[in-house]
Amino acid sequence: MADYRPGLNELPTYSVEEREWEIKIDANESSFNLPPLVQERLMNRLAGLAFNRYPDIGMKGLKEQIAGNFQLRSDNVLIGNGSSEILEKLFHAYGGGGRSIVFPAPSFSMYDIYAKLSESRAIPVQLESDYSLRPDKVLAAARDSAAKLIVLCTPNNPTGNAMEEQDIEYIVQQAGCPVVVDEAYIEFHGRSAVDLLNRYANVMIARTFSKAYGFASARIGYLIAAADIVAMLGKICMPYHVNALSLAGAEIIYQMRNEFAPYIQQTIGERRQLAAALEELPGVTVYSSVTNFLLVKFTQAGRVAAVLAEHGIGVRDFSSVPGLIDCLRISIGTPAQNDRVLKIITGCRERG
Ligand SMILES: *Cc1c(COP(=O)(O)O)cnc(C)c1O
Repeated sequence: MADYRPGLNELPTYSVEEREWEIKIDANESSFNLPPLVQERLMNRLAGLAFNRYPDIGMKGLKEQIAGNFQLRSDNVLIGNGSSEILEKLFHAYGGGGRSIVFPAPSFSMYDIYAKLSESRAIPVQLESDYSLRPDKVLAAARDSAAKLIVLCTPNNPTGNAMEEQDIEYIVQQAGCPVVVDEAYIEFHGRSAVDLLNRYANVMIARTFSKAYGFASARIGYLIAAADIVAMLGKICMPYHVNALSLAGAEIIYQMRNEFAPYIQQTIGERRQLAAALEELPGVTVYSSVTNFLLVKFTQAGRVAAVLAEHGIGVRDFSSVPGLIDCLRISIGTPAQNDRVLKIITGCRERG
């Protein structure tokens, strides 16, 4: 019999439904492909790529651009194969051997999986009933478990709300360990914790190209942090862990990131409209969101998800997950998609 390492058999699999949805609003992807001008430049760049060569190991082009935007240096930037790779590396770098890592719950499901994978002790801190996170609870959990890393997710997935800036700063200031702020949805919120980097050596910011920048296919994320942290994390990344095609695309997207502003604004406008319309329906609670998705509570959430699925619409069903009972997470689609989603949900509410 196969003798896998302890714990692997019990490790949950990241669950995504493998169906080809007609309207795919289950993964918080951008509902728009790249802006035409960006796509054109990207194709031209790929046409001139040396496919036979390994990527630039220093990833200098993209690092310099990102660092420049934050008035930092290239050695403050780590590029990853999605921010997922960066988060996983953080769990390996600070955890392992039963050392504790604190993160909110409910939040991004991968934190718990990375804790198990890295043989760290997961210390989830439960959100309050309004889904806010109490800084004193985070600090107490970190202190009591002698945590080696605190993960904050703001805006939080799947609840959609953001932490107050002073609460983030308070945690960073009081924590006796590094704190990573997962800012996967920051472009929709606009209020980053990145300025804390100037004042605190223990704070790190993780970002992704997968959500607002519509580049989920290419798997690009980055971390900004003190140079010594970046150097240490670099040791546990494989050489050439980010491929040259994705890097070339990310450089163009970052250069042209202003092109995305209208799409981001449109998504925010659509989210507001959809939230307002859903709130009017009986048996529906919409949680306030500063992201490209809504967490919505339904009486009979499972049935709503099933009816949507019958119509080829895939949402993320959290209806039986502790802390998210009866909730569905609905990513914001194109205006036409959102109208259709609203119509179907309205139909199922009226039929009771
Ligand atoms: C989507 C998401 C990520 C992962 O993004 P990738 O860069 O695609 O790996 C990380 N954190 C949160 C909270 C997310 O929702």
